[in-house]
Amino acid sequence: MFDVAIVGAGVLGLAHAYHLARAGKRVAVFERSARAEGASIRNFGMLWLIGQPVGERYETALRSRAHWLTVLQEANLWHEQTGSLHLAYADDEAAVLQELSFPQTQWLSAAQVHEKARGIRAESLRGALWSPTEVCVDPREVIAKLPAFLSERYGVTFHFGTTVWGYSAPQLATTAGTFAAERLVVCSGHDLTTLYPQALAEQALTVCKLQMMRTVPQPGAWRLGPMLAAGLTLAHYESFKSCPTLPALKARLHAEYAEHERYGIHVLVSQNGLGELTLGDSHEYDDEITIFNNERIDTLVLEYLATFLDTPDCQLASRWQGFYLKHKTQPWLIAHPEPAVTLVTGVGGAGMTLSFGLAARVAQELIEA
Ligand SMILES: Cc1cc2nc3c(=O)[nH]c(=O)nc-3n(C[C@H](O)[C@H](O)[C@H](O)COP(=O)(O)OP(=O)(O)OC[C@H]3O[C@@H](n4cnc5c(N)ncnc54)[C@H](O)[C@@H]3O)c2cc1C
Repeated sequence: MFDVAIVGAGVLGLAHAYHLARAGKRVAVFERSARAEGASIRNFGMLWLIGQPVGERYETALRSRAHWLTVLQEANLWHEQTGSLHLAYADDEAAVLQELSFPQTQWLSAAQVHEKARGIRAESLRGALWSPTEVCVDPREVIAKLPAFLSERYGVTFHFGTTVWGYSAPQLATTAGTFAAERLVVCSGHDLTTLYPQALAEQALTVCKLQMMRTVPQPGAWRLGPMLAAGLTLAHYESFKSCPTLPALKARLHAEYAEHERYGIHVLVSQNGLGELTLGDSHEYDDEITIFNNERIDTLVLEYLATFLDTPDCQLASRWQGFYLKHKTQPWLIAHPEPAVTLVTGVGGAGMTLSFGLAARVAQELIEA
């Protein structure tokens, strides 16, 4: 008999396994794929605190960051405390960035920006907002290696290639037979149909599709430095909503970048330990989503990227699409469709950032229950 069974070996499932097993619980994780291939390996690897508005979300992200750093060090996984730059190439972008009141951030002049980061286009650069707290991880590495670490260090049992299709406490029905677990935590990503479809259908959830790209490793020891964002991103993250001149900036972006707006494009860049640049992204929701990647989206992302970054080698090594589930009005969904069951999902584009902080909260509730 396990104390807790967890559905999904994405970042949320692994973060819950970590906190529960550290607290002495007997934990088993069930993942339907041979290896987790959901949103958690398809992202930028950005622990992007600056995207979380100050308050509960920022506090959760901050706690998450602290847990992440412990886990990354314990498991000996590549990560870099790069911080981030939001680059301004127009006066209205600089105004919004200078209005933002966010912990530890600092406005940098154009000259200071060039001291911090490589390859930044100088023409029209007004300056940038520097934030020191963002951390870069390699999602493919962490999601592939954390299961072995959690097994060896904390005794977590993993069942890959095993779909969970039902639970009636304590019986867990899976494609590998029946298991017993006192409680179930469901971290099934954007799957809305396998477990508790009715409970999920009652929530204000939306599925988002994103297109992503990765370059070949950059030559020599070329390092980008901080993770990068630019003007379009200011219209995307809630942190900037409090800035008084954001509506004016949004109006200009709407007029000049209507096609980017249509596909929800804003451009972020991170560099992993292999030297590859991860580039994206776009946001298409629910009925807009098709199985096909839209070449025009990738072109718009690459063209916008070229307005602020000059990469030594921009040859692409891969393109892919990712999906996440986002709650329309809340930063995440924690629901109990049955007394022994906790659904944790709906974290949208901030699941890497929030994962270990959110899971710590859920685990605490389960431990105290
Ligand atoms: C392109 C992209 C870029 C992003 N960039 C960032 C970023 O840089 N920073 C950030 O903070 N966030 C980012 N995000 C968001 C983040 O990746 C997600 O919020 C997070 O990965 C969600 O984790 P999860 O564990 O809930 O879901 P997933 O990673 O999708 O994992 C769910 C797992 O559950 C398994 N599963 C589902 N149903 C069952 C079942 N019945 N039985 C067994 N297994 C099941 C699936 O196979 C899957 O492996 C990005 C997302 C995308 C798509």
